[in-house]
Formats: sequence, structure tokens, C-alpha cells
Amino acid sequence: MYKITVIPGDGIGQEVMQPTIDILETLNSKFEFIPKEAGKECYQKYDTNLPEETIVQCRESDSTLFGAVTSIPQQKSAIVTLRKELDLYVNQRPIHSYTNPDIDFTIIRENSEGLYSHIEESTGDEAIAIRKITYKASERIINYAFNYALKTEKSKVTASHKANVLPVTDGIFKNTFYKVASNYPTIKSNDYYIDAMAMYLITNPAQFDIIVTTNLFGDILSDEGGGLVGTLGLIPSANIGDKTGLFEPVHGSAPDIAGLNKANPIAMILSSCLMLEYLGLYDDAKRIQNAVEETISESKVKTPDMGGHNNTQDVANNILHRL
Ligand code: ATP
Ligand code: MG
Repeated sequence: MYKITVIPGDGIGQEVMQPTIDILETLNSKFEFIPKEAGKECYQKYDTNLPEETIVQCRESDSTLFGAVTSIPQQKSAIVTLRKELDLYVNQRPIHSYTNPDIDFTIIRENSEGLYSHIEESTGDEAIAIRKITYKASERIINYAFNYALKTEKSKVTASHKANVLPVTDGIFKNTFYKVASNYPTIKSNDYYIDAMAMYLITNPAQFDIIVTTNLFGDILSDEGGGLVGTLGLIPSANIGDKTGLFEPVHGSAPDIAGLNKANPIAMILSSCLMLEYLGLYDDAKRIQNAVEETISESKVKTPDMGGHNNTQDVANNILHRL
């Protein structure tokens, strides 16, 4: 029995969560789903967008499924706080196009330091942000990337950095990359400066299997990946630490389409597949991924972001029938 905390959150987060749970319930694996609150609606009810009870439940669960939360001005983001509280140092985003076979790679982004260390100061005329890079965090994310390549039978890991301009900080990242790479002789390794990388993702994406990079660079490349695929409604993500994992679509609560039953549930459903892989349930993950792939390629059932006329439930039902 796997304990799964379920945080639907706000907006379309709520609409894409139930179909995902329905799909997970058709599998032979057994899950105990524990619903918890976070986000804007939660804030309006309890005066906090992330109750302690929710954090504790996530810590005690095997995994968390997270929909999306609407941000509230002047409040710390619930998801950023959760990543920190649970020490989820890996942010993994598979970028897979169903129409262009050249676009099929995974971005593994360092999720705990870099320019996200929240060290920013102003002296009045000047302001400084600290970009902290450590051997420890670099080594653990790079090791994760190579292990992930082994596990998923990918042949290459590419690092991206700016060690020409930032030789001290990104020097650590680059040197650690090649040190770790020497422990994985069966996997090819290379590196690109981040600016060249941004270009190659557009001009020659087929060369990439796994990309590993620091926090802000990973953030930027992920959205570029979303642009390559065409809709945020297809991109899942995993936040992983040593103790637990949290799985969420890359998209937000999409207030513009919330309540209209138009949201594409696929990003959330594929996020649950990343959870199944994390739990070691590879066959279950594959079954759902195959059903999603068939729905996309063989049926005309599509939400408007993919050019179709169907609603959230139609797409989810089509996937369910195939399972
Ligand atoms: P938030 O502040 O919660 O991130 P947002 O306004 O940034 O909300 P996103 O959720 O990030 O909105 O979405 C950006 C755009 O992509 C919106 O126009 C939204 O309608 C569209 N979009 C996002 N997710 C989906 C989805 N699952 N299905 C269809 N369209 C989506
Ligand atoms: Mg957004």
C-alpha cells in the first residue's frame, strides 16, 4: 500500500486531479490517497496557503500529487516552500513531442541552490544577488542524472553552464560533471555553454537525451522545452529528494480557463506516471503512458490547446477505456 498525499490546489489543478486519481485506481497497485489543502482557496479558508498539516502529511507519504496553486501577492509560494521543506533537490521535466520525434529529452534541474538561494541585498545604489554553487549539490544532481540515464537506458548526458564567464561557480559544476561522468563509462557525456544550448534545443534537439544544469538555467530551458512541444498541457514534472517525491504538471492554475472543463489533463496524468516510476512501478507507468500516446495519436479526442473540441473528462475517459 502506497500512501499518496493529494493536493489539487486551485483552478484547473482541481479539474485535472480527479481524472488522474480515477486512472490510478484502475491499476493493480494499491494506493491510499490522502487529500490535503494548499493554495489560494486554502488561504481564504484558513489564513494560510500551506498549513503545517499539509507539510507533515507530505513528509509522511511515499509521494505527493500536486495540481497547481494560484499565487497570492505578498505570500510565499506554497510550492516553492514545499520543495524546500521536503528537500526536493531534483526537478525533472521530460520534454516529449508526439508529433516531432526529434524532440524527446529530459531536463534535470538542480532545485536547491544557484540563484534561488534567496540571498539578495541592496545598498541603495547597488543590488547584489548571490549565486551559490556547491560541490555537494552539484554532485548529487549530476549523479542523479547519470543514474537516471542508466535506469531509462539513455546513452548521453549533456551538462549546461556558463563556465567561461563564471569560472569559479560554474567551474565547480563543470568539473564535478566530468568527475562524476568518469564513474559511468557506458554513458556518453558532453557540455555546452547555456547560450549555445538554448540555440541547439531549437536547431538540433535530436542530439539530446538528458540535460543536467543549475537552477535558473534549468528553469529557462524547461520553458523553452514547453515552447518546443507546443502546449503546457502535455508537460509533466517530478520534484525528488532522498525521502519523498512530489509530482506536478509544469502548468499553473490557468485562471483564464478554470471552471470551463477545458483543461488538458495529460500533463497531470503523465506527472502521475513519473510518480509510478519513482515508486518503482514501471509497468504501471508504461501502461498509462501507452494509453496516453494512443489517445493522442489514434483518437480525435483532444482539448482545445491541442486543436480539439473535447473537454477534460472526454480525454480522461478515452485514456481510461484504453486501460
Ligand atoms: P498561474 O499563475 O497559476 O501559473 P497562469 O496564468 O500563469 O497561472 P498557466 O497555468 O501557467 O497560467 O498557463 C499559461 C497558459 O497556458 C494559459 O493561457 C492556460 O490557459 C494555458 N494552459 C496551461 N495549462 C493548460 C492545460 N492543462 N490545458 C490547456 N491549457 C493550459
Ligand atoms: Mg504560470
